[in-house]
Amino acid sequence: MTRVSKVRVDGRARDQVTAAVRRAVSMAGDLADLVRPGMLVMVKPNLVAAPPSAEAGACTSPLVCQAVADLVSELGATPVIAESSARGADTEAVLRVMGYEELRQQGYQVVDLKKDKTVRVKIADGNVLREITTFALVTRVDAIISVPVMKTHDQGQATLSLKNLKGLVTDVEKRRIHLEGMFEGTVDLVGHFKPVFAVVDGIIGQEGMGPLMGLPVELGLVLAGRDLVAVDAVASRIMGFEAEEVPITKAAAERGLGTLDPSHIEVVGEPVAAVRRRFIRCEEDHRIDREGITIVHSEGTCTGCRNGLLSSLFDMRAEGTLGRARGFTIVAGPAAIPEGVPPERLVSIGSCGLLEARRLPRFVRGCPPNNVDIVRALSGGV
Ligand code: SF4
Repeated sequence: MTRVSKVRVDGRARDQVTAAVRRAVSMAGDLADLVRPGMLVMVKPNLVAAPPSAEAGACTSPLVCQAVADLVSELGATPVIAESSARGADTEAVLRVMGYEELRQQGYQVVDLKKDKTVRVKIADGNVLREITTFALVTRVDAIISVPVMKTHDQGQATLSLKNLKGLVTDVEKRRIHLEGMFEGTVDLVGHFKPVFAVVDGIIGQEGMGPLMGLPVELGLVLAGRDLVAVDAVASRIMGFEAEEVPITKAAAERGLGTLDPSHIEVVGEPVAAVRRRFIRCEEDHRIDREGITIVHSEGTCTGCRNGLLSSLFDMRAEGTLGRARGFTIVAGPAAIPEGVPPERLVSIGSCGLLEARRLPRFVRGCPPNNVDIVRALSGGV
């Protein structure tokens, strides 16, 4: 039996967030036997890419990380808040938008992993990964605490504490994981790095076109637990998914990395039924009228191209030019070109596209491609 706690946050002020995180961690069994004096402990937020605002629900609140880091310090260990944002995204820009700079000014260690030395490590029991390039700091820490934000994901339904581990590898490896199989590859990382605890920021999450372009959801919750599979299972049920609908949770449970079986999870604090709030799925987010625009992804199409394309469509809508994109089929990343579409109605984006896609007259190179170039291609230019 494992325990997952759920605690309501009374507001967004620092003392309110701190109190909720402390209560959630304590109710879930505490960190005392996991974090010992002298340890170096990584607090790993989800800082996918620079969001439109700190309250967009796309990234973990610095106040949640701060509260976890304080708990680590009180146990005599050294916390380091560390992340490498999505492929092509500037981690420092995310840190600025989200307010992590203030934590630095207060003396907290906040590290952009993309600036760290890289290290090649073997993955002993990987399903799709045998070796991976990670960062020197990741190999030096004694424990990892995953601190994601609760949000939907255009490929994986939801992104929570397990998916958050993808930020521990380089941009090149992030892409390789997408190509090898994002779900199994991420579970390989979980099995290798063995995070010891999860604290989920559900204060403001995101629904719809997550993991970056979704709509904020003010849920006012913090979840915590030692079994990351169980924590993600409970979080996804709150979001209105069956735990098995989230492929990474399911794959991790099948590999014995935790349980998603409700009969093996003791949920303490707020009952799931009292806080459940069905999150709008990606495909249900109708802010962009995509009628007449066909988007083709594959499992290898990563966040860079997916979000770049969506934000380009948002830009076109804002400019009043979205109508120009109607009638186009957009092939993103390494996806096959659908049969029967005339070449003049095809746009392909992303340098990792298949050869036939890269030979199209309207091919937008870049990894990830630039929004301006995507908009130009969809507006009739190349
Ligand atoms: S081109 Fe796009 S899909 Fe391919 S690796 Fe780069 S960002 Fe990902």
